[in-house]
Amino acid sequence: MSLNNLVSIEGYYKIKKKLLADRITLVAVSKTQTDESILKLYSEGQKIFGENRVQELAGKYERLPKDIEWHMIGHLQRNKVKYIAPFVSMIQSVDSIKLLREIDKEAEKCNRKIPCLLQFHIASEENKFGLDIDEATDLLENHLNTMLHIELHGVMGMASFTENDSLIRKEFVALKSIFSQLKTKYFADNEAFSIVSMGMSGDYELAIECGSNMVRLGSILFGKRN
Ligand SMILES: *Cc1c(COP(=O)(O)O)cnc(C)c1O
Repeated sequence: MSLNNLVSIEGYYKIKKKLLADRITLVAVSKTQTDESILKLYSEGQKIFGENRVQELAGKYERLPKDIEWHMIGHLQRNKVKYIAPFVSMIQSVDSIKLLREIDKEAEKCNRKIPCLLQFHIASEENKFGLDIDEATDLLENHLNTMLHIELHGVMGMASFTENDSLIRKEFVALKSIFSQLKTKYFADNEAFSIVSMGMSGDYELAIECGSNMVRLGSILFGKRN
């Protein structure tokens, strides 16, 4: 049974069942997908969706059911934080201290705390955004304590776009290890800091083997993007 852009409801359930058994959170990446396709998945019980463009995310938030949890997963410009701060459930793509500062400021205006993940640059490619461990250390030791409207829930990363599984594995293992170091050093008493968001359609099984507990799946659920 093929439903519009959705690959199949059976496919969704198969993936969902596997993830549930391992207590892995599924973020359905709905960028470029129609409201109709999103609603089909929503009506099957999917509540968390990920978007990478502010304008698209804000529009979908306006039009679609209000109990959807929207995750921002793409590079976020500081001047656009204000458009999503009132409603976004999580910002996974925190790649600079300045950006986190801006999120804190806008969250305060909305009188809320915004859950965030620190995005790390783990790929060998230059074009992917993310912090390195030194920046993250500076953030956690010298800046976070004044950001009262930020809740850090963990880390996120994208592996290299390659067929080389051993390279991908190395990158995922590195992210999991960064998570464990930060957890031990800064968040040992903080239960919320628990998320390792890694794995996309092509590499999510590998990511899970390497310790992911949140996967971001787009094309495997919705079919190829336009
Ligand atoms: C597009 C995107 C995904 C999903 O990619 P698929 O290969 O379609 O599963 C996951 N994470 C981020 C950050 C993305 O931009």
